Amino acid sequence: MKLWPQLCLALWATAAGVASAAVDPALVADLVAANHILVNQGVLDGFGHVSIRDPRNPQHILLSRSLAPALTTAADILEYDLDCNALDDQGRSGFLERFIHCEIYRARPDVQAVVHSHSPAVIPFGTGRTGLRPMSHVAGFLAAGVPVFDIRRQFGMTNMLVNDATRARALVQALGDKPVALMRGHGDVVVGPSLQIAVYRAIYTETNARTQAQALAMGGPVTYLSREEGEMADVTQQGAVMRPWELWKQQSR
Ligand code: MN
Repeated sequence: MKLWPQLCLALWATAAGVASAAVDPALVADLVAANHILVNQGVLDGFGHVSIRDPRNPQHILLSRSLAPALTTAADILEYDLDCNALDDQGRSGFLERFIHCEIYRARPDVQAVVHSHSPAVIPFGTGRTGLRPMSHVAGFLAAGVPVFDIRRQFGMTNMLVNDATRARALVQALGDKPVALMRGHGDVVVGPSLQIAVYRAIYTETNARTQAQALAMGGPVTYLSREEGEMADVTQQGAVMRPWELWKQQSR
């Protein structure tokens, strides 16, 4: 009789499309919450995606099937290898741009979560003419520098999508060791050492772009956080990330 809970979990996992009963349901719930949070905060809309590295196997990732993120449930979370092949998609299609995630995890062992969005306020900064710089302590992580990936430079005329491993590797090269890279004419990628920090960074990248645009519109020189201020603020804010996370998570229910 003691096997019943495990059996029920395995049956639920199979029905839900989760690749293995060993996936922590709380982790999947947090990934689902991250999808909803990023919609509520104006980072994701009908497009964009958020993923986590599988803590059971660093060569696997968890990412929703192709779906508007507001609609994501636990049953929609698929497991992929780093070639972006789904382990068991049950006939469901994946995001065209899932390669962004797979190639970042392959190149960056420090990264545990990735957000790709069309974060609207960052678009003007994606031209590269005016760099995205930290306006306040909550966006101190931007002080590391925000590179811009211009798909046209390497690939000429495209549909602008990073929809294969070759394009994704070029994006990863632009990202380097940074937390954020802008994508010209498209959006951004934001990474973090945890799901909560990646979500936090994606949200404050968007709000920082808005406040920076306001400051630039006011005219005159803008004083940004220095590299040192940004680094110190980032350490403090990472330590406090669970406070807004719990709020955002509750608001997303
Ligand atoms: Mn996109």
